[in-house]
Amino acid sequence: MAWRLPFLRSEKVASPTETVSAEAIPAAPSLTTISDIAIESRGLSVYYGAKAAIRNVSLQIGRRQTTAIIGPSGCGKSTYLRAINRMNDTIKGCRTEGQMLVDQEDAYAPNVDPVLLRRKVGLIFQKPNPFPKSIYENAAFGVRIHYRATEAELDQIVESALRQADLWDEVSDRLDENALSLSGGQQQRLCIARALAIEPDFLLTDEPCSALDPIATARIEDLMFELKKDMTIVIVTHNMQQAARVADHTAFLYLGRLVEYNRTRDLFERPHEELTENYITGRFG
Ligand code: ADP
Repeated sequence: MAWRLPFLRSEKVASPTETVSAEAIPAAPSLTTISDIAIESRGLSVYYGAKAAIRNVSLQIGRRQTTAIIGPSGCGKSTYLRAINRMNDTIKGCRTEGQMLVDQEDAYAPNVDPVLLRRKVGLIFQKPNPFPKSIYENAAFGVRIHYRATEAELDQIVESALRQADLWDEVSDRLDENALSLSGGQQQRLCIARALAIEPDFLLTDEPCSALDPIATARIEDLMFELKKDMTIVIVTHNMQQAARVADHTAFLYLGRLVEYNRTRDLFERPHEELTENYITGRFG
């Protein structure tokens, strides 16, 4: 049984086996001190039509760290992730309130171009989604769209991105082959290479390993460990072991609210909230 800090415990926390209304969920204090904040939401709420998927979430994400967002299905993890690079803007009827600061700048300010924001903040989806083009063209895709590069420069960028994504050795002799001929794990690393080629500062990953086997998953997790030396990574995962393995900090969302946020080890070993403890010990979710 995890050791707990009794004085930080809420007076009254509903058991998840009862019906918990979002209003009853304690607002999480930020328990960590993050010296270099890369991403920060302040009172962020996201609505689909009249329904709130995220309610009043304030969270600070550290630079060159990996931050995991965990919680049961439907609790708003992907919505929060997509709010960071304004991918929710593409969903009809979706509305965002509060602030999302990326590098201290309000991502929703009228003068911000979401396309430029997304260039800086890459997003990797749950299911690998390479284009039905060659491996080379997949890795070169963003550069061809956003920049002017000579063929020689492009060759260098493609090689560098594929190396960074730990894929080069497996594909260097077949760059002209269709990306769809790759295994699932290779496809996901190619999607990461495609994102890395335009040198984002942030990488958002939405359940990036859920379609992969354990070996392919381990490769992606090792890769994330390498990448965070240079970039800030946010990973949405329902896999708590994965959060424990890769993340420096972990946020637990429930019914659209932030229940608890802390250093990963502290959150898993000494959860402050009963809801967190019930979730991480598998009592619901
Ligand atoms: P999670 O990633 O934790 O599974 P989501 O962010 O996908 O949660 O969803 C949070 C809530 O928002 C859910 O109730 C879901 O049904 C709703 N939702 C998500 N996407 C949409 C959408 N495009 N339109 C309407 N409701 C949505």
